[in-house]
Amino acid sequence: MQAYTYIEKGKFALVEKPKPTLIDPTDAIIKVTLGSICTSDLHIKHGSVPRAVPGITVGHEMVGIVEEVGSDVTAVKVGDRVTVNVETFCGECFYCKNGYVNNCTSPHGGWALGCRIDGGQTEYVRVPLANQGLNRIPAGVTDEQALFVGDVLATGFWAARISEISENDTVLIIGAGPTGICTLLCCMLKNPKRIIVCEKSEERREYVRKNYPSVLLTTPEECQDFVITNSDYGGADRVLEVAGANDTFQLAWQCARPNAIVTVVALYDEAQVLPLPQMYGKNLTFKTGGVDGCDCEEVLKLIAEGKIDTTPLITHRFPLSQIEEAYRIFENKEDGVIKIAIYN
Ligand SMILES: [Zn+2]
Ligand SMILES: [Zn+2]
Repeated sequence: MQAYTYIEKGKFALVEKPKPTLIDPTDAIIKVTLGSICTSDLHIKHGSVPRAVPGITVGHEMVGIVEEVGSDVTAVKVGDRVTVNVETFCGECFYCKNGYVNNCTSPHGGWALGCRIDGGQTEYVRVPLANQGLNRIPAGVTDEQALFVGDVLATGFWAARISEISENDTVLIIGAGPTGICTLLCCMLKNPKRIIVCEKSEERREYVRKNYPSVLLTTPEECQDFVITNSDYGGADRVLEVAGANDTFQLAWQCARPNAIVTVVALYDEAQVLPLPQMYGKNLTFKTGGVDGCDCEEVLKLIAEGKIDTTPLITHRFPLSQIEEAYRIFENKEDGVIKIAIYN
């Protein structure tokens, strides 16, 4: 089968690999029907994910059909349509039991698929600890509707949950890329008083304006003044930093009112400065990135009920054989791209 593979820093390539087989009784083999490209794939390509193993098949956003299950897999059966979780977790350790599945202490735990073991930009993928890592797609929910459940949408859902948003809040979301928009959709479910999205790309601001007209929009340059004008207490009550650019972490805490919660969702390419003397007295609470993707069943239910729809994010579709071109468009943010679906 064809598998898009991390060759070395700066280079991915489509190579021929054997179809994966079951290794552990908790494994499942999934026939990938639809996958996607994530910014984290680009982080691997650029060498900023040190734990990524050269030679692995990349891709950690996918849906598919259960092809084969190990003897200990009870949550799904052959033929089920499923979402695949970006995280592998045991469900039994201290962290899993508390919902912190990103910190699962199993040797397989954390972000393994498409990073430390073969992922999903291919035809078949072996999913370890499949009882936790797969969720059945409800009847009536399409592959495209379910595509982002295991990764970007899980991230947006988690970010909105840990930000403790109430109906009186002014919520600032920095970044309207794919994860930013998923975060926006999940924040909207909390019915805050107002949501401000800060995004530097005019094209993406236009996308938000068109699809979510109730959202207030600003640019990084105008953000701080805009937030002060459009909030009740001199800053945002909740800030969700989803951009991960060079200066967006500073912008995030600067736009927060005293005693706000600042949730850092972004994965940065470079170290960030926490200027404690300057922020002294603001009494901020910071929550840092690393999705606990354990709410996939709830997210799928919300999709089935029509409360979350991420299909407008899919701006492009390519077959696996043309994944190179898909990456080129995604990486260069060409042609109004938000997300690309890769089909088999
Ligand atoms: Zn991802
Ligand atoms: Zn665990």
